[in-house]
Amino acid sequence: MVMATATAIRTTRKAFTCQSLIGSDNLPSLNLRKARMPHARSVDDIIVGQGLAGTMLAHFLLQAGRRVLVVDRAAADGSSRVAAGIYTPLAGKRAALLWRAAAVLDFIEVFYPALESELNARFYFPHPLLRIFKNEAHRAAWQRRREQDAYSCFLGAWLEEAEVAEAFRAPHGAVQVLRSGSVATKPLLDCYRRRLQAQDALMEADMVYEEISPGRDGLRWRNIEAERMVFCEGFRALGNPWFPALPLRPTHGDILTISIASDDALPIAHGEFFLVPVGGNRYRAGATYLRDTDDLRPRADGRRTIEEGLPSMLQLPFRVRSHEAGIRPTIIGHHPFAGVHPQLKSLCIANGYGSKGVLFAPYIAHLLTEHLLRKQPLPAELDIQQYFKEQT
Ligand SMILES: Cc1cc2nc3c(=O)[nH]c(=O)nc-3n(C[C@H](O)[C@H](O)[C@H](O)COP(=O)(O)OP(=O)(O)OC[C@H]3O[C@@H](n4cnc5c(N)ncnc54)[C@H](O)[C@@H]3O)c2cc1C
Repeated sequence: MVMATATAIRTTRKAFTCQSLIGSDNLPSLNLRKARMPHARSVDDIIVGQGLAGTMLAHFLLQAGRRVLVVDRAAADGSSRVAAGIYTPLAGKRAALLWRAAAVLDFIEVFYPALESELNARFYFPHPLLRIFKNEAHRAAWQRRREQDAYSCFLGAWLEEAEVAEAFRAPHGAVQVLRSGSVATKPLLDCYRRRLQAQDALMEADMVYEEISPGRDGLRWRNIEAERMVFCEGFRALGNPWFPALPLRPTHGDILTISIASDDALPIAHGEFFLVPVGGNRYRAGATYLRDTDDLRPRADGRRTIEEGLPSMLQLPFRVRSHEAGIRPTIIGHHPFAGVHPQLKSLCIANGYGSKGVLFAPYIAHLLTEHLLRKQPLPAELDIQQYFKEQT
């Protein structure tokens, strides 16, 4: 049933691709400057989507002096708005070191505080993450990492059960993961949206692919002319007719906001689920992972899974305050992707952040900006060219 939905999205995309102009020789010159429509507007870059990907890209392009227009649905429903906002250099049961972890952290540890100052807002909360081991095998896998040089700067205190805060259940112990923390994504995005609105750089609209006319020297969407359009649509890129071969495999996730009766503030913790402090006695708790659905609604079974699973790591009673859900733009493989369409140079994309948008979106937006404006090559493992090569 859910697979059928994803297939339907892909089928629509395929049908439209067939009717679209994809060979650069066939592209019309739009004569953008000559054939002006009434009330036509001209910008440098249109960005589709104001999640983390689109917001960060808009930020760097605006900083470079570009005239940017971000187009986002009025009811912005991106996964960035429900994300718990955790960032950490180590992922998964085996504590895999993420792509370019040290360089990416060097970047965001400067970037987010600078953005806070610029926006006069607080949303960046660096703090070691308490990784609670689920069993002895889990602990052993992490213990092996401790012996590897590349991990030494990311692993802090190793805690036995008795040393872990009483609020947590940790019979197999825990370790502190350094250079971790959280970003309050919704306040950040709301704040940036207001800034874009104040600069007349945001339009609340649904981008309909059939309304986009890419040409040799730019593109037109409705009555707006632009040099390029960058798609940052999150999981909805599955329906994008110009980028059919990207390895997106969206994953639905439920997340709860809970209150915990505790006198002490608890740190970010990750055991069976994660727990992120959001102020007072409130915490975000989650999340679930369900593949191949485009139904954004919170699921009752997802809520139940989190509610029933939390006591495996949390000893204190809690109350559910709210329940949200989103769809992560997860990828098959390891890297997000970004780049320029090989034939339609005015069409670009940045996507595939999976559950790591907080860590990667600013860094990759910066790389993409350098690529678009200063012709700096993208790292091959990110560049979408690899997926087009596979097709030919
Ligand atoms: C439950 C849950 C918990 C998560 N926790 C974390 C976490 O702790 N840490 C972390 O780093 N990540 C987390 N994530 C993942 C994170 O949300 C993603 O990595 C990241 O936010 C994706 O950003 P994005 O901008 O690519 O997509 P999105 O945030 O989905 O944004 C896409 C935007 O494009 C808009 N859009 C799409 N199509 C159109 C169109 N045709 N016209 C106009 N607008 C359009 C959408 O409305 C949306 O605003 C979590 C996700 C979920 C669901």
